[in-house]
Amino acid sequence: HYDSLTRLPNRMLLADRLGHALTQTRRHRLLLAVAYIDLDGFKAVNDTYGHAAGDEVLREMAHRWSSRIRTSDMLARIGGEEFCLLLPQADEVSARRVTEEIRRESERTPVTVTNDAGEQSLTVTVSIGVVSVAAQAVDDIEALLERADKALYAAKQGGRNRVVELRYPPPEAPEADGAET
Ligand code: GH3
Ligand code: MG
Ligand code: MG
Repeated sequence: HYDSLTRLPNRMLLADRLGHALTQTRRHRLLLAVAYIDLDGFKAVNDTYGHAAGDEVLREMAHRWSSRIRTSDMLARIGGEEFCLLLPQADEVSARRVTEEIRRESERTPVTVTNDAGEQSLTVTVSIGVVSVAAQAVDDIEALLERADKALYAAKQGGRNRVVELRYPPPEAPEADGAET
């Protein structure tokens, strides 16, 4: 259930936890936010500094971000250079604050890696898509994650190194009444 490179929870553990968080959110009318975090231009980091240096960056980021979140939150590594942050009970304001802190801190503090050329200092930026979930509105994990993916995509399209927030469900979505035939 844990990723061996970063020691973070993996996708499977996150899915368990997310399912549980959604149940709690619905039952107790709580808030929830979910963020996708993706390193910008990470392929170039590998190409320039080597794969081992890339691994070091992933470990360092995981470590830094972990220290920024609460024990009730969960940061998981869900893919190569993709992370997911689960923020139970976070309203829009605190979700924005945490994700913006992560983004800014990533950019501000260069990562030191060592390769054949010696010690190198490199600046890494991240794009983040964050979704705030309206209490009791959550019924579809897939749709929620798609929304987060959409927010992340918008952050990339918008030029990277930024946070884009969306709501779930989308405000413009018509009420599902199931009455259509
Ligand atoms: P973008 O800003 O659009 O996200 O660009 P990107 O280069 O980060 O994205 P892309 O998906 O093109 O490349 C992701 C790279 O991440 C490619 C792959 O080699 C690297 N990667 C994935 N997993 C690992 C890993 O465990 N270690 C290292 N060092 N690199 C990894
Ligand atoms: Mg990337
Ligand atoms: Mg990616």
